[in-house]
Amino acid sequence: MPRVIPLADARTTLQHAAAPRVTPTGLLGDAHGRNLRDLRISVTDRCNFRCVYCMPKDAFGRDYPFLPHADLLTFEEITRLARVFKAHGVEKIRLTGGEPLLRKHLERLIAMLSEIGELDLTLTTNGALLARHARALKDAGLNRVTVSLDALDDGIFRAMNDVDFPVAKVLEGIDAAAAAGLAPVKVNMVVKRGMNEHEILPMARHFKGSGHILRFIEYMDVGHTNGWRMDDVVPSAEVLRIVGGALPLLAVDANYEGEVATRWRYADGSGEIGVVSSVTHAFCGECTRARLSTEGRLYTCLFATQGFDLRALLRDGSSDERISDYVAAIWLQRGDRYSAIRSEHTVALPKIEMSYIGG
Ligand code: SAM
Repeated sequence: MPRVIPLADARTTLQHAAAPRVTPTGLLGDAHGRNLRDLRISVTDRCNFRCVYCMPKDAFGRDYPFLPHADLLTFEEITRLARVFKAHGVEKIRLTGGEPLLRKHLERLIAMLSEIGELDLTLTTNGALLARHARALKDAGLNRVTVSLDALDDGIFRAMNDVDFPVAKVLEGIDAAAAAGLAPVKVNMVVKRGMNEHEILPMARHFKGSGHILRFIEYMDVGHTNGWRMDDVVPSAEVLRIVGGALPLLAVDANYEGEVATRWRYADGSGEIGVVSSVTHAFCGECTRARLSTEGRLYTCLFATQGFDLRALLRDGSSDERISDYVAAIWLQRGDRYSAIRSEHTVALPKIEMSYIGG
């Protein structure tokens, strides 16, 4: 029998019908005054990798019950919700998963989202299928991509993705994305102690001067399947000591308020890197992100225990106005700040797997 990952109790205290009218002004603030600006949409819960810290094989084996296709939001449903969110202030949409490039005809969705207009459209991918799709994604209206890459050493990379996928193919994908104009390409490296910290400097050297922006991500306690321990986290301060010790760095201002990565540029002018200190320096205070799961549940935090069922409204004949009011009601009462209150006690709280909620 497959081990089924317990999803959050999706019942909600907020009743669909009870949401009061909130005229969208593009300035929807939550309980801590944080405006809704970014929406991450998971387009599939499936992935072609089994990264040991994200979808370990013992939990996500061959018989794992992934969502049936009918449960996934359709492209039309996603686009309809995107319009609602945009009216409430969303400026940027990131498609993610699972592995988003496994969703068939994804470029059609991108074209539909692009027609909404004035949205920054981005995608996070493991890069395995990127070389094949980069041009079509760009032509459909995608602005940029972020590629996850945890090591340059082929052996370490294959061990981490756990499906024996070669690093060369991901590097090809990054090149293809840049050539297609999906630039600057961001490359995200999750650093896990004892697994790939020796790859920090080789990765920095490789991408220095390439025009791509390498970002080091602290390993987080998302989900329950990865057996996270604080000892496995390599703090950003350590990453900066390693990179800066060999390749001098200077601090750079954030591009915009709420940017998750702290930016650093090489003193010799050959590019920049970023560090995302999700564990050691929580950035909940500036978090403007909402997440839409593959089956249409809205989560207001990566560590949320409860999602709000928007698919039910999409499929019961509700008007756009009713859906809009429900989204507003959810955001207005949002008070999460998990990373700011993280402790050994919160680690055990029920959480959603990253592959389901969207990374
Ligand atoms: N398949 C796509 C990809 O690989 O980019 C998108 C989904 S994946 C869940 C998104 C990102 O989440 C990847 O960069 C992955 O490394 C990161 N991730 C997964 N589990 C994580 C964890 N426990 N801590 C930090 N990042 C994690």
